[in-house]
Amino acid sequence: MQFVAGQYDVIVIGAGHAGVEAALAAARMGEKTLLATLSMDNIALMPCNPSVGGPAKGHLVREVDALGGEMGVNADRTCIQFRMLNTGKGPAVHALRAQADKKLYQFTMKETCENTENLDVKQILITDLLLEDLPADARKTQAGGEGSGDAPVFAPKKRVKGVVVETGEVYLAPAIIMATGTYLKGRIIIGEHTYSGGPNGQRPAMKFSESLAKAGIRLMRFKTGTPARVDARTLDYDKMQLQPGDEEARNFSFMSDITTREQVPCYLTYTNEATHKILRDNMDRAPMANGIIEGVGPRYCPSIETKILRFPDKDRHQLFLEPEGLHTNEVYVQGMSTSMPMDVQIAFLHTIPGLEHAHVMRAGYAIEYDCIDPTQLKPSLEFKDIRGFFSAGQANGTSGYEEAAAQGLIAGINAVEFLRGEAPVILRRSDAYIGVLIDDLVTKGTHEPYRMMTSRAEYRLLLRQDNADMRLTPIGRRVDLVTDARWDRFLQKKAAIEDALAALQGATLTPSTAQNAALEEVGIAPIHSACTAYDLLKRTEVHYEQLRTALPDLPALTQEVETQVEIQSRYEGYIKKQMEQVARMERLESKRIPENINYADVPSLRDEAREKLAAIRPASLGQASRISGVSPADVSVLAVWLEQQRRR
Ligand SMILES: Cc1cc2nc3c(=O)[nH]c(=O)nc-3n(C[C@H](O)[C@H](O)[C@H](O)COP(=O)(O)OP(=O)(O)OC[C@H]3O[C@@H](n4cnc5c(N)ncnc54)[C@H](O)[C@@H]3O)c2cc1C
Repeated sequence: MQFVAGQYDVIVIGAGHAGVEAALAAARMGEKTLLATLSMDNIALMPCNPSVGGPAKGHLVREVDALGGEMGVNADRTCIQFRMLNTGKGPAVHALRAQADKKLYQFTMKETCENTENLDVKQILITDLLLEDLPADARKTQAGGEGSGDAPVFAPKKRVKGVVVETGEVYLAPAIIMATGTYLKGRIIIGEHTYSGGPNGQRPAMKFSESLAKAGIRLMRFKTGTPARVDARTLDYDKMQLQPGDEEARNFSFMSDITTREQVPCYLTYTNEATHKILRDNMDRAPMANGIIEGVGPRYCPSIETKILRFPDKDRHQLFLEPEGLHTNEVYVQGMSTSMPMDVQIAFLHTIPGLEHAHVMRAGYAIEYDCIDPTQLKPSLEFKDIRGFFSAGQANGTSGYEEAAAQGLIAGINAVEFLRGEAPVILRRSDAYIGVLIDDLVTKGTHEPYRMMTSRAEYRLLLRQDNADMRLTPIGRRVDLVTDARWDRFLQKKAAIEDALAALQGATLTPSTAQNAALEEVGIAPIHSACTAYDLLKRTEVHYEQLRTALPDLPALTQEVETQVEIQSRYEGYIKKQMEQVARMERLESKRIPENINYADVPSLRDEAREKLAAIRPASLGQASRISGVSPADVSVLAVWLEQQRRR
């Protein structure tokens, strides 16, 4: 029997990496929020790699933090090794990666959720979404979003009302966010053995998919996989290469000042021909090859059996042995994701140097699950056809804790802006990796689990991990998510950067003997014509502290501010060029497309373009230009037609 058990402003279905960010954001912005999860003990569970960050993912963590999200702070408090990757390359691809103590990460996030005002956390299984007809007068107005001017309107016929729990409770709310991850119709596959289940032996959510389909939502079937966990006591680390953390203290959050941490190492080893032979000899028993697996897997996170098939000439694949925490012997074999039968898994593990006697504590497995086609969403992550219903995370076809957290945060913010009747926060591709992520999903869709990579961001020199706060903290402040402490810190840093740049640009140097002697004394090559200290800092071999030794009037700076000043001076030309590219794209972005456009009325559009445009309903010519199958010529045709309509 169903009964109304509670009324909320926002309900978040799922307490994974997306759900916790969404719920914390909504509650911190003042809304009465319910966070539902299948297991209170698995809030912010890391069912796969025990790590946060890395290339592009580290950028997302910083952006979530800059907007007032939780992942960065939680990672700084619970991670057990930090490394800055790609330091040999330009700042655009520098990326922080940290090894997490999974249980500590989970329980710290659980504690934060349980102690957040306005937030209730419940272990409940939601089976149904409750919808109601939108009254006729509510079917029109819906603002388009930050920076989008008079955007078009979407005219859904339904709106959310609440959710039903398997035990009969009904919870009501005008805004609902689904962040159901890898649980919808979850199916576990280990060789020939398959069963319905969620990650780490949890229950799946078998009914909610039907409720979504009944609401007219298109679903996809995806798959992902994870490697075995082995017992550290049975490993021979002498046969592997040590991978220690950085000595220099690192943090994800712009609010963290942690300078010392107990760090644990990872270890590097490799597969070999013996490993590959076992896999080749048993490929007919591989579920991803013999049809047992139907879901589509991640191209950029392939299983070991897929690697053997995809790279037959490669004589070895690197594996990282990553500790899962300080208080466990479980070790994650990164690079060895598999759903091979157990006898095969044990056999190929024992061919690897250092794992000859490894005991498997948890089997590698694949999981298939339902997710939605994200082209059904607006850039605000609200469904185009159901008012007040948002979606975030793996449920949108992505893969990764960081991708999930980024979407969860935006969905949480926009659910509240929706309730406030405000325009949603829509980050552009030139604002943030989060903007690239969401724009790719809602404009291009995805046919496999989408993973963020730096190569996806055309403006990556602007979207560095070091300046995420300068790009996004003001937006977080505008929606009341950035606290006073974070705002003050941001303003101080911003002022320090501006003052330092002004001081550098104001410090004029002349090629006098005394001046050049002072420069040479600190290892800076002499100057031959008058210049500013700012110009000198453009030299890649010149560093701010060095310059300040020669020019003591320059202000003392924190490491963070120094990094900003050095990058802004050294990459000024490239940054300027990229800003010009952004300005050119902005012109297309600002050209709005009316919602009620009928593409059949636009003469000389190619059929494929007409079809794609009608399906995606892009908000601007900029978004239209990114739809696969819509050519630049189609965009020009559309631009001319829109201009003619406007003049009429
Ligand atoms: C086996 C496996 C391997 C993976 N491998 C990788 C990888 O190699 N690389 C990578 O980047 N990512 C990988 N991932 C993905 C990564 O775990 C996810 O991207 C991330 O956890 C997604 O976060 P999320 O918040 O969207 O969903 P999840 O973390 O899956 O959380 C979903 C939440 O929804 C809840 N829930 C679901 N349905 C209901 C319901 N009906 N009622 C109430 N609560 C519900 C669950 O209890 C859970 O709290 C893997 C995941 C799994 C399971």
